[in-house]
Amino acid sequence: MKLIIASNNAHKIYEIKQILKDKFEEILSLKDAGVDHETVEDGLTFMDNALKKAREIAEITHCAALADDSGLCVDALGGDPGIYSARFAGESNPKLRDGANNALLLSRLNGVSDRSAHFTCAIALVYPDGHEVTAEGYMQGSIIDSPRGSQGFGYDPIFLPKGYSLTVAELSDEEKNAISHRGNALENLLSKL
Ligand code: IMP
Repeated sequence: MKLIIASNNAHKIYEIKQILKDKFEEILSLKDAGVDHETVEDGLTFMDNALKKAREIAEITHCAALADDSGLCVDALGGDPGIYSARFAGESNPKLRDGANNALLLSRLNGVSDRSAHFTCAIALVYPDGHEVTAEGYMQGSIIDSPRGSQGFGYDPIFLPKGYSLTVAELSDEEKNAISHRGNALENLLSKL
């Protein structure tokens, strides 16, 4: 069976292909599948958004569709930025967005001693007959005082995984995938297939 990933994010697509390659004949990004569709992410949870994206792509393509929704939850901020992680600082230019989000988060945590945080990833796989399989994964850690490293994306330069002295942006792709929220969620999904 063909699987369409409801994303064009190269980091995510690579990671998903690595883990699910034995379960599907072909795995395509939205772009590879020739689908131009943007889901309005208006759910109140990560899983609401993942399910909404996967259901829409399965309906449009009549193929199995996989979508994820992920973000950073900071304890001292009551779980923010959470489902609003991508748009936290309101910056719409994708090239400037990550830097603006990191700067805003660091300013909100200025003088705050509790730096604990975790990434969450919700994944939904929806088959054309409507059958649905879901899974979640987490990466625990803490927020440091200033960005370090140039790998990865998003909040990686300010997030120190639990037990590590390097930020996620100082790890290789392989090292990140082995401990990441998305890697965990994909392994959990794989165990259900
Ligand atoms: P989405 O799941 O692509 O919508 O991710 C939402 C936002 O959460 C991203 O734009 C990032 O800001 C943040 N995020 C999700 N996963 C990661 C990650 O692995 N590293 C750093 N930031 C992430």
